[in-house]
Amino acid sequence: MKQYLVKPGTKVKLSTWDPNETGDLRGGKQDGLVEVAKLNNKLKELQELLYAEHKHPVLIVLQAMDTGGKDGVIRHVFEGVNPQGVRVAAFKAPTPEELDHDYLWRVHKVTPGKGEMVIFNRSHYEDVLVVRVHHYVPPEVWGKRFEQINEFERMLTENGTMILKFYLHIDRDEQRERLQARLDDPSKRWKFRLGDLEERKLWPDYMQAYEDVLSKTSTDYAPWMIIPANHKWYRDLVISSVLVDALQNLNMKYPEPEENLEGVVIE
Ligand code: AMP
Ligand code: MG
Repeated sequence: MKQYLVKPGTKVKLSTWDPNETGDLRGGKQDGLVEVAKLNNKLKELQELLYAEHKHPVLIVLQAMDTGGKDGVIRHVFEGVNPQGVRVAAFKAPTPEELDHDYLWRVHKVTPGKGEMVIFNRSHYEDVLVVRVHHYVPPEVWGKRFEQINEFERMLTENGTMILKFYLHIDRDEQRERLQARLDDPSKRWKFRLGDLEERKLWPDYMQAYEDVLSKTSTDYAPWMIIPANHKWYRDLVISSVLVDALQNLNMKYPEPEENLEGVVIE
């Protein structure tokens, strides 16, 4: 899955990243879904171990355009993990209190503790995405944030947090279909906002903003991956396998039991 990694220091042009990719699984979607289920089992075991070991904080950042699949990833990839030890932090438009503080204030408050896995559904990156595209602050202000974010993430990783960042890459046609599906399906309509259509008009501006994010904030300590996300099963497959890999690399162990348990009798 290394091909989806954004090498630190490279300039990303999103039009050269294929959102339709489905890898080289022979059985296609059917095999893919079986693989996702297997990986889900491994993820559950690893998360249990992460929690038991109580050593590493793990932060997973999900960013995408509207309908990109952030909610779907949270539902499918993390299905069945132990809610004790996994938390989702969703970042909406800031409250007045949040706006009175620096943009990282609300973020740092919800970062993971040891043994905890936190999924950011949107993140501090909105402060160089929506904020930039809508001119909520001038370029002199958001322009400095790439470096600030890199330093913030460096600080987190130097203090033990593992950070994985996923950009779910869909194209504009796929977004049209998914918005249409939301409109047509009564059980999905609650997700549809007329404002989403205004955002959709700004697609090119968002792509430019995302390209800057991916080019400037993929670091060796907190890398970005660009996940082909037009096909939901493949998106889930890539993310699951990256997560399982990363957790396995932590070489975690269950904590040693208390000494002298030999011969203990429970009456
Ligand atoms: P959703 O993810 O569909 O629930 O929508 C959340 C909304 O909050 C999106 O429209 C985001 O653009 C918006 N949002 C998130 N973070 C910020 C931010 N820092 N400033 C302004 N809007 C934000
Ligand atoms: Mg939305």
